[in-house]
Amino acid sequence: MSYRNDKIRGVGLATVLASLLLCLSATCSFAQQDREQIDIPILRSQSFRVPENLTVCVRLKNIAPEEPTPIQWRHGGEGQGGEVVRGVFPKVGVPADAPPEAHTLTVGRWSAPVSLVSMAKRFSGKFFLTITAGNPGKTVDRTTGRRGGYSTDVVFEFEFRSGDEMIKKFTAKGPDGGTATIVIPVYRLVEGVEPNSPRFIEELTDVLGYAQRRAEGLENLSWASWPLPRKYDVINNVGGYGTGYGYGIRTTDRAVTGAELRSLRQLGVNGFRDGPDFILEMLREGGPEAEKWNRGMITHVMGFPVDKYRAGRNEDPQAGCPFGEDVPARTQQLVTESLEDVLSLPVKEVWGLTVDEIGTVIDGSREKKAHLSVCPRCIRGFQEWLKRKGLKPFDFGASDWSGVRPLNVWDSESDRPWLRDRGLALAAYYTLDFNNHITAMMFTDLKEAFARANEGKRAAIARGGDQDGPEARRPWVYSYALRGNTS
Ligand SMILES: [Zn+2]
Repeated sequence: MSYRNDKIRGVGLATVLASLLLCLSATCSFAQQDREQIDIPILRSQSFRVPENLTVCVRLKNIAPEEPTPIQWRHGGEGQGGEVVRGVFPKVGVPADAPPEAHTLTVGRWSAPVSLVSMAKRFSGKFFLTITAGNPGKTVDRTTGRRGGYSTDVVFEFEFRSGDEMIKKFTAKGPDGGTATIVIPVYRLVEGVEPNSPRFIEELTDVLGYAQRRAEGLENLSWASWPLPRKYDVINNVGGYGTGYGYGIRTTDRAVTGAELRSLRQLGVNGFRDGPDFILEMLREGGPEAEKWNRGMITHVMGFPVDKYRAGRNEDPQAGCPFGEDVPARTQQLVTESLEDVLSLPVKEVWGLTVDEIGTVIDGSREKKAHLSVCPRCIRGFQEWLKRKGLKPFDFGASDWSGVRPLNVWDSESDRPWLRDRGLALAAYYTLDFNNHITAMMFTDLKEAFARANEGKRAAIARGGDQDGPEARRPWVYSYALRGNTS
């Protein structure tokens, strides 16, 4: 469904890179002459017209515990691009612009009809509308992010009308909370096709119907039973499911994710990043279903082992400094925790993401990039690093090391003296390199700990006879970061 594709834009570089890996591992050849973009939308998006008399109203058929509640709608944003647009299904006889509390509906009571054109200034060809009701719930366990207290067994019923004519009535279920999403195929409304046409009506459905339809479409392709990638990790975020309602939650029905998995499988996906809890449970249980999805996993591991400077909240002068006094101890603790986490995952290979769009560690300091030029620890670190490279103060036109310092080459106010002086030019060059070095250096211990774990697994496998032993069975583990080409 489109929210999965859209989510890819919302989650940052990690997934984009994962998609790129997918591309590299599949059959795309960059040597091909044909470099046309292949993922362009094939919907002739703007030629459709949403008639003013196309309306929708909604009621709750069930909610537990039963309580009166406003029924709200939203679309866009939250990883789907653009801003979130929100509204409420009005209570009959109450002005639509009254606050949501004024539109509280009891189970069984229909809302007033809402004209579809009033819900958006621009429509995507397949218009995904998310509906929420009841208690959103809240996080009850901060470590796992588990939520509780939300309404359950929610069933919405929708009625679409074209003028006075009722064109379709259908339900959408929210077993694990008051969120459901429906799909309105407005792209069908072209060339004289009206909302009462079967072409529009058959695709007007909840996301479960939409996801099932797509899975069937893919499973009916003549190559559907061909072999799928096994050597490469093809990772998907498998987003959209959540409990209750809140940011990024588009469905509370596991069946939707189940239908999505069928499509993902057809697309060659064999692993996940940040999937919902029940996916992880499925992987832990093992068995044939888990085997399909345990090729690899992307998970978060430790970030920078430094505090971030926050004006008024954390003014520690060592904040953001890669040579801060507590960095080694904190690194060891984070490495230990990260290693425990990744080794416990029930997959064959784990890619531990440290920092997405990593930038530089010193951006966490009070001075940001100017930090290197003023911090005594970093200046010393710079000199030691140059010594290890075999450089001498003389190379920089200095008589001793005290004359060799990182420069604030990022200062746009500077008249850039390093462009006119050979020694300063070399210092500027190494400052930029040092900035990369100190940032990557934050994860050297992690990388080495992962490498040792892999060595242990390799040795256990080589010893043979204990293929099922705990060390041989645990995943291969790798750490990585992603860096935008502009940082
Ligand atoms: Zn420093």
